[in-house]
Amino acid sequence: MTNYLITGGAGFIGSNFVKILLENDENSRIIVLDKLTYAGNLKNIETEIKEKKIQFVLGDICDEILVEKIFLENEIDIVINFAAESHVDKSIENPRIFVNTNTIGVQNLLEIMKKYWSIGKDEEGYPVYKKNKRFIQISTDEVYGSLELGEKQGIKLDENMKELLGRESIISYGSDSFEEKSLLNPNSPYSASKTSGDLIALSYFKTYKFPVMITRCSNNYGPYQFPEKLIPLTIQKILTGKEIEIYGDGKNVRDWLYVDDHCKGIIKISKYGKLGEIYNIGGFNEISNIEIVSILIKKVRDIILEKREYTDKYEGIIDKINSNLIVYVQDRLGHDRRYSINSSKIVKELQWKPEMDFENGIRKTILWYLENQNWIESLEEKNDKFKK
Ligand code: NAD
Repeated sequence: MTNYLITGGAGFIGSNFVKILLENDENSRIIVLDKLTYAGNLKNIETEIKEKKIQFVLGDICDEILVEKIFLENEIDIVINFAAESHVDKSIENPRIFVNTNTIGVQNLLEIMKKYWSIGKDEEGYPVYKKNKRFIQISTDEVYGSLELGEKQGIKLDENMKELLGRESIISYGSDSFEEKSLLNPNSPYSASKTSGDLIALSYFKTYKFPVMITRCSNNYGPYQFPEKLIPLTIQKILTGKEIEIYGDGKNVRDWLYVDDHCKGIIKISKYGKLGEIYNIGGFNEISNIEIVSILIKKVRDIILEKREYTDKYEGIIDKINSNLIVYVQDRLGHDRRYSINSSKIVKELQWKPEMDFENGIRKTILWYLENQNWIESLEEKNDKFKK
């Protein structure tokens, strides 16, 4: 039996991770610790709680007393930290809370894990830890900063990567990409606070030989994502016939990965990853924001016309679902131009690769939002209640 503490497990990636872990590992006991900010929703893991497959603790990763209590009462083996303030725009409005959760929260977890997992010292004075303990800090490709935007081009893969990924080439907007050793150059308060969390975690590895690994993933999409991020926000705007605002010229490029593939990568790292290492995880799938929005407009419209129940429900707005919904607005402050992540390390060392292609992943995602409009309402109700 492995005891997991999943922090931020009621958010987008954390809740998908809980489901995938339960499917993959019958011998897991899971505690979710989540503060339920506006972005966290207990509904995401309601079934798992009701069926007693997981235990939920409401609270903050910065709360020393609460986190200690969890460690005192449970022999936790693996901690996976998804808890974060995650929206760049919000970090521009209010950076403080980002530093609190994304940096100080990580340090708080590290300190308590060190206290409860260490069992003595080696000859050189380094702490020695109980066997098979692991901390995985979930980070982001945004720590590397921004790359130049070039022409869209096909890039041929070398023979080894061709075989491992099962494809000949990838689409990219430049020949460069971020590797694990690339310079850290964060530009927003969000990415700076995540970078600080990473550096604190790595310092615990160097200074205390603490068993930590870091993942840096590109943009995720899929079910349960709060509709403030590009894909769910655009789907929601389309379904309500509202304007879709695009920052700047819309040409900013991100690398998109289906959330399940990210979660499967994390499971591989937790089992077979090397302590003290960083693993990039990406989709080999660069797409510009304007391309994403155009794809969504076409696909949402197609699905509505294809499925009778939705054709009837959205009859009143179907004619409005076209590119006229797009409006260009002033660019985000300090907006990173292009992210491109080189994930060959995890592909080569841990035999991971993205399994979901974008075409199918985006269809699955749209269908999920169409089928789960009550989930959007539950978020609105919950956040209204918080405001009162
Ligand atoms: P999210 O905003 O959907 O979820 C974050 C969760 O953390 C929420 O449930 C929230 O209630 C909880 N939380 C926030 N502050 C907390 C605190 N102080 N204590 C306890 N819980 C707290 O975020 P997400 O998109 O699921 O991202 C999860 C992690 O993955 C983050 O660390 C993020 O930096 C990273 N990441 C996200 C993406 C992406 O595309 N979404 C890409 C790469 C990396």
